Amino acid sequence: MAVSMAFMSDELDRMKREGLYGNIRTLEGPQGAVVKIGGKDYLNLCSNNYLGFANDPRVCKRAKDMIDKYGVGPGAVRTIAGTMDIHVELENRLAKFKGAEAAITFQSGFCANLAVIPALTGEGDLIFSDSMNHASIIDACRLSKAKTIRYEHSDMDDLRAKLSEHKDHNGKKLLITDGVFSMDGDIARLPEIVGMAEEFGVIVAVDDAHGEGVLGRGGRGIVDHFGLHGKVDVEIGTMSKAFGVMGGIVAGSSVLVDFLRQKARTNLFSSALTVPDVAANLAAIDIMEESGEPVKKLWSNGDFLKAELKAEGFDVGNSETPITPVIIGEAQTAKDFSARLFENGVFATAIVFPTVPRGTARVRAMVSAAHSREDLERGVEAFVKVGGEMGVI
Ligand SMILES: *Cc1c(COP(=O)(O)O)cnc(C)c1O
Repeated sequence: MAVSMAFMSDELDRMKREGLYGNIRTLEGPQGAVVKIGGKDYLNLCSNNYLGFANDPRVCKRAKDMIDKYGVGPGAVRTIAGTMDIHVELENRLAKFKGAEAAITFQSGFCANLAVIPALTGEGDLIFSDSMNHASIIDACRLSKAKTIRYEHSDMDDLRAKLSEHKDHNGKKLLITDGVFSMDGDIARLPEIVGMAEEFGVIVAVDDAHGEGVLGRGGRGIVDHFGLHGKVDVEIGTMSKAFGVMGGIVAGSSVLVDFLRQKARTNLFSSALTVPDVAANLAAIDIMEESGEPVKKLWSNGDFLKAELKAEGFDVGNSETPITPVIIGEAQTAKDFSARLFENGVFATAIVFPTVPRGTARVRAMVSAAHSREDLERGVEAFVKVGGEMGVI
């Protein structure tokens, strides 16, 4: 036993030596603009809780009320006894919110990708996948047994060349892309992608995890942002980011949703979303439908932080969304930068190779609607202090 298990401690030691071992922080209270870690308050520039809903009293109250009525657990997979009327209500509300014919929920965004890709493709099929796609897409492609063809990140010439090369392929073809790329904050060139997919007879799927609740009117997502309703075959999303809760979404035609209900393995073999998750997600949709204010505040906070950091001499890349990468270069420098920010009361993680290309290591700042101007000013102050001390600016 001791011998055969040694590979794990060896690998962990190697990761520590090479600076790849992740230090996982523990939050001692709610997710918010400020979080408590080790008994101290930190400005939170790390979370995907874009709209501040994770600890919104209206969202929390709905979860508590629904627990009183339904309990906590679904008790089964959706296809046996795990479908409650609130699951159906959530799916109807999501379809309406997103302007799609139908929607189905999953336990997470990761599970949504594991549901869709292997259900739609199999051996002998082709998947065209952006080189910067999320890990859950990569894993789902592997599970499908289809052949994955990677195209250069958002490079429409490369995509066209690859689609063209395989235009006579005998079998299904699926193209999948992140909607918003989380490391740089750039948006997929969906109108061009949809045009090419039509030309080459390819199914289009977009994983809008970072666009859900962020892009489009009142946060209705990337399809709404580009006005492509009915033109994107599969819209995948998550309720774990802007919705502030947990859960995956797939929206599209009613045939697609019906097919996934019958075929998707994460629907058939993993239990339904829990009651408080469903309740809180319903409350999040209510708030978004009621007012576009949280989404507006998120964007104005993102614009403010980017402009301030840029004015101070930081390289904030080419983000088109509230995601604010502060590109530093070497992995160790970015890690040191993040550690120094932490000493100065700011929690913002370093992102290094292989998540981003070598030489583009960065500290990524995530703003939310929960941040006040003062919060962000304090954040900028810490970036400037550390940047000056480390010679980054
Ligand atoms: C975060 C993310 C996911 C995973 O979503 P979860 O709901 O946290 O499982 C999937 N795809 C993309 C593109 C993401 O950014």
